[in-house]
Amino acid sequence: MINYNKMIFELSNPGRIGYSLPKERFPEYNITQIETQYLREDELLLPEVSELDVLRHFTNISNKNFGVENGFYPLGSCTMKYNPKINEEMAGLKAFKNLHPLQPVSTTQGALEVYYNLQQYLSEISGLHEFSLNPYAGAHGELVGLMVIKAYHEDRGDFKRKKIIIPDSAHGTNPASTTVCGMEAVEIVSNERGRVNLESLKAVLSDEIAGMMLTNPNTLGIFENDICEITKLVHEAGGLMYYDGANLNALLGKVRPGDMGFDVMHINLHKTFSTPHGGGGPGSGPVGVTEELTKYLPNPKVKKHEDYYYVENSKDALGQISSYFGNYLVALRAYTYIRTLGKENLRLVGPYATLNANYISNALKTAYELPITGYCMHEVVFNGLINKETEVKTLDIAKRLLDFGMHAPTIYFPLLFPQSIMIEPTETESKETIDDFINVMHKIAVEAKEQPEILKQAPTTTPIRRTDEVFAAKMMIFSYKDYLEYINNRG
Ligand SMILES: *Cc1c(COP(=O)(O)O)cnc(C)c1O
Repeated sequence: MINYNKMIFELSNPGRIGYSLPKERFPEYNITQIETQYLREDELLLPEVSELDVLRHFTNISNKNFGVENGFYPLGSCTMKYNPKINEEMAGLKAFKNLHPLQPVSTTQGALEVYYNLQQYLSEISGLHEFSLNPYAGAHGELVGLMVIKAYHEDRGDFKRKKIIIPDSAHGTNPASTTVCGMEAVEIVSNERGRVNLESLKAVLSDEIAGMMLTNPNTLGIFENDICEITKLVHEAGGLMYYDGANLNALLGKVRPGDMGFDVMHINLHKTFSTPHGGGGPGSGPVGVTEELTKYLPNPKVKKHEDYYYVENSKDALGQISSYFGNYLVALRAYTYIRTLGKENLRLVGPYATLNANYISNALKTAYELPITGYCMHEVVFNGLINKETEVKTLDIAKRLLDFGMHAPTIYFPLLFPQSIMIEPTETESKETIDDFINVMHKIAVEAKEQPEILKQAPTTTPIRRTDEVFAAKMMIFSYKDYLEYINNRG
């Protein structure tokens, strides 16, 4: 039997082709026109397969993948919510898809209207004055936001401010973006409730502080009660407040970062606003700022005069940080999501996401260690099993979940606890699905006590068992040629 799961090169059959063009309409390209230095010396290594072989091969391997459309996917911090299909339909419309960014604006009024309106919606949702949809991802948005903060200080002739305060619970992109922006990250430790410790914050405030980056609810899913005090302290020290709004899910329609005293923020459209992510696909990390900082937002800017939309490049702007307008079709999907839900339903996203996380927190706390008790927001963090005598680790629990057709939650992050399991169910899951997950988690806790070897072996039902992650990271095999070399060297 033909095994379509084999590598595509192994299905290759000399002379077989998938598609050919009529020769008389495409005369041989005259290769003498190409400079010799650019000519290929070896024959191009390509699989020789039919269209149907290719189709079956890729369909088969796609079935081995696990996505939010296969089953529960409670990856904490990532908001793996369902991406409604209507978003895709809109993004597939030729009227949008076939536009060219350099077309005269008189011919793209509809597309610019969508873009402009989304900027306005994000302002309304976040309480910040203006948004740029240009950044390609959350981390990119962070960098742009930090560049705005830097430009603001330098414009006032204040070149001393190079430090950005970041709590230890923050996402790793925060210190990374700070460093890329040429600034210095100053870490502060959380208190025993997982929140910012006001005393450690006060201790690092000085005239070298450019600002502070904060995620609220933080990466433990805990709301910073002292948020107004924190923003006040940083502002009094001359710094600006940056809100990491990659996960806005818990607050959507309830609390606005602008009202909490934040000056700059980014939002991940590919998390909160239901555009697909994972696998490094296109994202979008719009950046919003207060009125005072608006002039620094990157070019090009989409503006409106009366009923006419136009594109502006201002000289005060940071410059251009993406090609043209960023990932337009991702913005279009987010726009569709907002319009589909409407103002009233958008307000329900946060409460449902929070309810689901608290339901899980409460149901699992008898078997899993909950280091921070009380209400959580959109996600909950456990520290492995309560019963630490079993030798069963968070990794084993995560692997065992795969056997039950559920994606593992985020594990070993945040770094505050040695056995972190970070669960974010999102608002899109039904009570039945969440109950299923809770039952499986309890079953795993029982297995840990009675048959721990099952957990050490897991997963047993997936196409690939436990991967050797260290080997995979050290031995990157990206092409069939590399693979052959590896096989041959292995002997
Ligand atoms: C996902 C995430 C980011 C980074 O966003 P990317 O789009 O992956 O670059 C930053 N901060 C938090 C809290 C996040 O969850």
